[in-house]
Amino acid sequence: MEVQLPAMLFAEHDRADRPVWLTNARLFDGTSTPIREGAGVLVEDGRIARVGSAGDGAPEGVDTVDLGGRTLMPGIVNAHLHAIGAVPDLGFGVQPVLPGTLGHALGAKLREFLRYGVTTVRDMGTYGDQVMENRQAMRYGLFRGARILTCGLIISSTAPGDVIFDGMYRATDGNDEVRKGVREQIRRGADFIKVMATGARSVELEAGINRDEHDSAHGMSEQLTRAELETAVEEANRMGYAVVAHAEGLAGCEIAIDLNMRTIEHGFYLFQRPELLERMAEQDIALVPTFSSQYVFAGRDLQVGTDGPTERFSTRELDRVAEVNIAAAERTLQAAHAAGVPIALGGDDLELRRGGAWIEIRRMIHHGLPAHDALVASTSAAAHALGLHDLGTIEPGKIADIVVVDGDPVREPELFGDRDRFWLVLQEGSPVAGTALEVPLSEVGRAS
Ligand SMILES: [Zn+2]
Repeated sequence: MEVQLPAMLFAEHDRADRPVWLTNARLFDGTSTPIREGAGVLVEDGRIARVGSAGDGAPEGVDTVDLGGRTLMPGIVNAHLHAIGAVPDLGFGVQPVLPGTLGHALGAKLREFLRYGVTTVRDMGTYGDQVMENRQAMRYGLFRGARILTCGLIISSTAPGDVIFDGMYRATDGNDEVRKGVREQIRRGADFIKVMATGARSVELEAGINRDEHDSAHGMSEQLTRAELETAVEEANRMGYAVVAHAEGLAGCEIAIDLNMRTIEHGFYLFQRPELLERMAEQDIALVPTFSSQYVFAGRDLQVGTDGPTERFSTRELDRVAEVNIAAAERTLQAAHAAGVPIALGGDDLELRRGGAWIEIRRMIHHGLPAHDALVASTSAAAHALGLHDLGTIEPGKIADIVVVDGDPVREPELFGDRDRFWLVLQEGSPVAGTALEVPLSEVGRAS
């Protein structure tokens, strides 16, 4: 299904850049094709015009950039985050943060994403108008940042999570209200509709702690009813929009798959139902594993792997649920990968404290996704899951979102966490970030 994506309208920029031949590149094209050396890529009018070999030479009249053997790859697509501006707590007595300041904080973060090679993000729920305001500001060319897709508010039922994430949900009860909630998001400029197919296990009144064995979510019922979820899909699809599911318990996962929703977010326990994974593969429904939020909830903020010490994050019960979710997510990631389910990068980092998506990429690899496949999940698979068919690969005709990094990201994926190794980032063919564009102060004014 071709879906409506207002984000793509809002992301259009004037293109005054001259064509450029990026040569002497190690190429990761975003697909399962092995990385190859000695590639050349022609960028023209914001798009990739040709993918060839360095030996082809530069076409006449274009600028040439020698990448010196650095790796050229598609811009990273982060399919699950919460685009919330945040500022540090300066302590008692300090002037309270003004509402608009947080929007600026989000803008700074969107700029910083580019610096880490992340050219597109999908907002899965935020507060107020921060996303819409930033998207509009980028449209007017006020700054360049990661292109942003958003669900607007999350369609939920009246539920305990509304209180915890007050302002992030549109609580709807009954089919008419669900329909209205969907329409409201479309009116605001949402790119897709996100529904709560189940509650969130990070919320104690939704986690099913008393009902469930810790190692499953069998007792966790769907949140919106099947009929309400059907209504959401019917209304969204009728208007040309995709629906994606927050789904932890298996009952909600199954309904989301029955209704052919486009992505399953979290889905930690799917390994217990292999036939659901098979159906996801058949129906081209992507899994977004979201390890990083569970690491945060487990008190393992900057760790990769669960061997390190934990810090208390919430109650003992909820911290324990997060640990169980990580273990289950590992089994599901491996089972989903084996079953051929498309996997899309998405850390679900609640506070955007880190500039990039590097830690989720490393966690996916740590938990069993081969490094090359983790890169596919971070580029073409994520773009495909979001309905961004012009993004995610280095192929003729695609939008020229291009990242050039020092080193081989399959051999050393940790480079994604190192700001200094992002040499050049192009968005729609325009240079927007990277060390190549930054002159250290020590070099400024030096006689050349
Ligand atoms: Zn989330």
